[in-house]
Amino acid sequence: MNYARFLTAVSAARKPSPIRVLTELQQRSPPSLISLAGGSPNPNTFPFQSASIKVKGGEALVMDEPLMKRALQYSGSYGIPELLSWMKDLQKSLHNPPTTGYSPERGQMEMCVTTGSQEGLCKIFEMLVNSGDNVLLDAPTYSGTLAALQPLGCNLINVASDQHGMIPADLRKILERWDPADAQKPGSSVPRVLYTIPNGGNPTGASMTCERKQEVYELARKYDFLIIEDDPYYFLQFQKPWAPTFLSMDVDSRVLRTDSFSKILSSGLRIGFVTGPKPLVERVVLHIQASTMHTSTFTQLMVSQLLHNWGPGGFLKHIDGVIEFYRSQRNTMLSSADKWLKDVAEWHPPMAGMFLWIKLKGIKDTQQLIMERALEKEVLLVPGGVFHINSSDPCPYVRAAFSLSTPQQIDEVQHIFTDIFMYIML
Ligand code: PMP
Repeated sequence: MNYARFLTAVSAARKPSPIRVLTELQQRSPPSLISLAGGSPNPNTFPFQSASIKVKGGEALVMDEPLMKRALQYSGSYGIPELLSWMKDLQKSLHNPPTTGYSPERGQMEMCVTTGSQEGLCKIFEMLVNSGDNVLLDAPTYSGTLAALQPLGCNLINVASDQHGMIPADLRKILERWDPADAQKPGSSVPRVLYTIPNGGNPTGASMTCERKQEVYELARKYDFLIIEDDPYYFLQFQKPWAPTFLSMDVDSRVLRTDSFSKILSSGLRIGFVTGPKPLVERVVLHIQASTMHTSTFTQLMVSQLLHNWGPGGFLKHIDGVIEFYRSQRNTMLSSADKWLKDVAEWHPPMAGMFLWIKLKGIKDTQQLIMERALEKEVLLVPGGVFHINSSDPCPYVRAAFSLSTPQQIDEVQHIFTDIFMYIML
């Protein structure tokens, strides 16, 4: 793959920071190395000494003095080696990407840690999206993605989706505007990037079938575009076996995948990952070097200790418990919706994630309903418009999250909501 043609001018101009390179070296070198190189402060001057963190039902995480000194210090921009290698092993076991081993045709998989997957996405967009570019995405989509993309001045092209995610036939129809032979010509307007949320979509709750992914991947090969697979709800799939990912079918090295620990370990710790072809991940790291420099060393060490204590089996066991919780919440949401909303709304049961996407019958737009009437009754839902490219376009949907509320609250909200809805329909 010739990745140079995918890069923005800003990204192509990014150069490795010589100081950051030394930090990576320092991280991998024996402790006997005497370094007068980097501008690291002396951690002996810091007020923190050690930490011990209780883990529910497990061993405490202890950060003794030497470890704490490391936790409080700058670290490499890819992420700390022990967290990265743990995650690379997990990634290989879950997705078995064809790009795992180096081969001249396929390149090599690489990973870096990001401060939540949001940082990964922002850096990827900064790397790949120029003003005026055509970018494909399934709208409605995550408002954080729209917030990151829209100011870049690109032209967002909405590919239709349903409860099974992006519709390949619609994508094919859109792409027919272009000749695939033009894709590699300089200045070509053929889209170079497609963004999608393949599991438990935010806001739709939709999960893409394997067949659809294969069709989209074939179109990516034909028109030579990259796929950004934003998959923070991958670990919240209610049914096993989990769906094959774009990464798992990436024979050409054209998939950049973002993962997140936000929904399974902690959203406040801000740990995410970018996985993809080495030349692109290396460049994402250049963007990190010039901005955040690295994800908090303390956070990475804490998470890495937890994962190493657990081992891959313990991690997956923990995930099973999290899934069990969300599955039960989803079921509560669906039975309340059946009880209260059957006559006034439509929805599809989500197979992953934490959202129910509800379409209200006979109503054009939910903005006023939510922001005025529902708030008056102390009920908060998200009006569907915010997930569209043009947020002021009328939208008859609302997004209801089933992550935080108790079963009683979930039921009560839907009861109140039906009342409000009936009132405005009268
Ligand atoms: N992508 C999607 C689809 C999301 O829903 C979210 C969080 N709401 C993110 C990315 C960002 O997640 P984080 O930065 O916490 O990993």
